[in-house]
Amino acid sequence: MAPGPGGLLAGSTDRTSPAGEGWPGGVGLTGQGDPRRYPRRVATLPVPSPAHRVLGIETSCDETAAAVVDGGSVIVSSVVSSQIDLHARYGGVVPELAGRAHVELLTPVLAEALEAAGSDASGTGIDAIAVTCGPGLIGSLLVGVAEAKALSLAWGVPFVGVNHLEAHLFASLLEQPDLGWPLVVLLVSGGHTLLVEVSAPGRYRLLGGTVDDAAGEAFDKVARFLGLGYPGGPAIDAIAGEGDPEAFAFPRAFLDEGYDFSFSGLKTAVVTTVRRQPGADTADVAASFRRAVVDVLVAKARRAAADVGARALCLAGGVAANSLLRARVEEACAEDGIGAFLPSRALCTDNAAMVAAAGWWRLGHGGPSDLSLGVDPNLRLVPTV
Ligand code: ADP
Ligand code: MG
Repeated sequence: MAPGPGGLLAGSTDRTSPAGEGWPGGVGLTGQGDPRRYPRRVATLPVPSPAHRVLGIETSCDETAAAVVDGGSVIVSSVVSSQIDLHARYGGVVPELAGRAHVELLTPVLAEALEAAGSDASGTGIDAIAVTCGPGLIGSLLVGVAEAKALSLAWGVPFVGVNHLEAHLFASLLEQPDLGWPLVVLLVSGGHTLLVEVSAPGRYRLLGGTVDDAAGEAFDKVARFLGLGYPGGPAIDAIAGEGDPEAFAFPRAFLDEGYDFSFSGLKTAVVTTVRRQPGADTADVAASFRRAVVDVLVAKARRAAADVGARALCLAGGVAANSLLRARVEEACAEDGIGAFLPSRALCTDNAAMVAAAGWWRLGHGGPSDLSLGVDPNLRLVPTV
């Protein structure tokens, strides 16, 4: 669907949603057409039944994404527009540019996701909206949350703010709804490195995190130093396949201690080594670096899974696309006799399907968000175990 003049909201004003429409026994949003009559709170709306469709919106960093998910687990449509090209020449995400790009991209991305789900600009068949409200870049988060609120009012459906980290945890459930509990999830992305025990959906215990750089950040910084471009993870992963992982003995911080991670010493070791040996083969450096990161990630995740008696180990976040990490996690889990769940690459990196899935669950366990919901760039995953 091509967005008409005026964007996605054009044409949506003809949809009126009388109290309770589509929400048995519900209150609904009333007063369409008169902004003064919009209730400040929508928390009295009923929660969706498992069959309800949720539109997810994700704009926390450099992916503009929208998806429609049925009953919290069936992806009906999912559209992701990456801003990688926009930020590549700066070697990292430029927050101001990211925010502006979300403003431009969100309308067509939403239009495509809605059309692919058989819906349209009036939100036909969409029962609720889920949107990432943190953590992330403040200007980027605001774009998605403002859009979600506007659509919530225009369509007369509730919306819910979703923690981006919790959304990553839900990505696994989209492809494998029958995962056994408890699970240990290793969430490794450009902005986060977390080891989380999930005893059931929504029940988390944080086991550890990074004390400095996130794993993806370390990949990106080392790749930049080696002149491999941005984003660094895929570039290092590709070239590392041609190098010798034992060429350099890089440090593996806290390898046998606790569940916290540190990658900044490793990053410095790479820089120091290359400066001392300017002729060092880049593929060897990349392979040794990748091996050091993966050794630490796998050792800690494996130990955590054993300590909590996990039935499976899951990966989440962009670094979960790393080929060595995936192979080593599968190997380790097979040896330990537990399940390994490696979501498809599309669900590892930022997407809105995981936001819709987490939002669907949140709507059923706490209800919709208030229209006064703000964004929180530093939102944390709140332990509930
Ligand atoms: P964020 O939004 O926090 O940046 P994403 O979940 O979008 O995180 O993941 C992006 C990160 O994943 C980047 O740091 C990128 O370098 C890293 N990444 C992507 N593919 C790979 C890979 N094959 N190996 C290692 N890191 C990867
Ligand atoms: Mg991203």
